[in-house]
Amino acid sequence: MKKNIVLAILSLIFFASAVRSQSSASSAEQVTVIRAGSLIDGSNSSPRRNQLIFVRGNRIEKVAEGSAQIPAGAVVIDLSAATVLPGLIDSHTHIFLWGEDPAKGGYDENILKAGIALRAARATFACRRALEQGFTTIRDLETEGAGYGDIEIKQAIEEGTIPGPRIFGATRAISTTGGYNLEGYAPELDMPKGAQLVDGPVEARKAARQQLEHGADWIKVYMTHRSWVDKQGNFVSQPTLTLEELKAVVDETHGWRKKVACHAYNGIGLQRALDGGCDSIEHGLEISDAQIAQMQRQGTWYCPTISPYYGDWAPADTPAGKRDRARAAVHEVSFKKALNAHLKIVFGTDIGGMPWTEPIAQEFQRMVGLGMAPMDAIQAATSRAAEMLDMKGEIGVVAPGAFADIVAVSGDPLKDVGILEHVRFVMHDGAVFKNEITTDSLGHGNGTGSGSGTDGGAFRAGVNGVGVPICLYCPIPQYSDEARKAKYQGTVVLQVTVTTDGRATNISVVKGPGLGLEEKAIEAVRGWKFKPAVGPDGKIVPTIVPVEVTFGL
Ligand SMILES: [Zn+2]
Repeated sequence: MKKNIVLAILSLIFFASAVRSQSSASSAEQVTVIRAGSLIDGSNSSPRRNQLIFVRGNRIEKVAEGSAQIPAGAVVIDLSAATVLPGLIDSHTHIFLWGEDPAKGGYDENILKAGIALRAARATFACRRALEQGFTTIRDLETEGAGYGDIEIKQAIEEGTIPGPRIFGATRAISTTGGYNLEGYAPELDMPKGAQLVDGPVEARKAARQQLEHGADWIKVYMTHRSWVDKQGNFVSQPTLTLEELKAVVDETHGWRKKVACHAYNGIGLQRALDGGCDSIEHGLEISDAQIAQMQRQGTWYCPTISPYYGDWAPADTPAGKRDRARAAVHEVSFKKALNAHLKIVFGTDIGGMPWTEPIAQEFQRMVGLGMAPMDAIQAATSRAAEMLDMKGEIGVVAPGAFADIVAVSGDPLKDVGILEHVRFVMHDGAVFKNEITTDSLGHGNGTGSGSGTDGGAFRAGVNGVGVPICLYCPIPQYSDEARKAKYQGTVVLQVTVTTDGRATNISVVKGPGLGLEEKAIEAVRGWKFKPAVGPDGKIVPTIVPVEVTFGL
């Protein structure tokens, strides 16, 4: 496991340069035109054929028919054989969770044995996973003992240090004494907790204030904690905050014009969540008819997170096994009720609780499997989530004025929603992050920035059975003063020979802007270290490859 993480970090360093190598499209003057074979724009109920999406800087300027004029000098990305959608939104994630596989020590190990740097590295991996799967926005519902780490990871993404989605973070979350892990240790031990525990409305309000002060975009509250099946066979859950405590949190948060997400399974805790004015109900495993009606009246959002309740069931004859099966059974009924009542449903996975290596989009199949129309499921992960996040028209749509968060799949997700597990093109904030569909002008475009482990990089396309060198150590050079002054953002393209011992020689410039950047690029590449290419006979061979060099701040 540790080895994999080191490799992931190494590849990430290189990956960051791959991301920036595409960022020339985000300079204010540059227009990029995406030709969409089919466009599902996030808000319209049906797709449109052959559309042109004009992107200027990090925003969508206009969407036009395929026959519209393309301005001279525009970069054209031909996705005419693909379905184009807005960047997807997962409204319930945990970048600081690492799966809860008991074989790896489960939840407790993540808090007790992983230091904050390791957890940050894993969160960095999670953010990249989200983005490469087309999730350009996440609402991350608490850090599970990693404090305000989500807000700092968000900062790292916004300043361009690491790739990742837009984050709406909830920081630490709030529960009560007896209302959150770690639990089950000797009572005299003062164990760390995965949430901020409060007792009484004064402490509850103070916790909300502290979290809001430190940058929480949302406040997350646990309104239920343990759950089990009682003697009568009913599924029950333990309530946590009192109505008074919750009202203090909601009142404080709403005063800051922010919203409250409430984890609530069923029963008393769920009722208090609704009476206390929670803005979104997370999981909502068992919702009574009266509670459905109350959610309708109050306009409460429902984020069901179906997937995690279908995996890793304990054996059927154990109390935990009974609970696991009861949870899925009641959840199905509640989801169908919510559909019939036209509750405002958003797509959320609780990923992190499930390993980040799993496909996030698996939730689409769950939603559709329980009767939701594919277009509704897509809107739950686009325009509807945007509305919940107070970002209507800015994200979750392909429309003029929106941020250029655009993804594409090969195939029709309305026929097979499972295709969304294979997002092959990702533009985030106007910059292409991943493109497995078209080939760039150098003919090596496949896969820039995609993949994981050691194979992330721009050198993947092999020729004549010869493999391609993989970057092992490729630090990003700094911009020249001249380029900085000119506010130049872009790349230098070089041609290099990678020797059998992994060094770059015979370096020549293919393309560059001047501004002293070619010299900087050549100097940097001389110091880079590659894993050399392997020929068809399995022997290491020298190879000539194009290298795009990008620059750090
Ligand atoms: Zn969660």
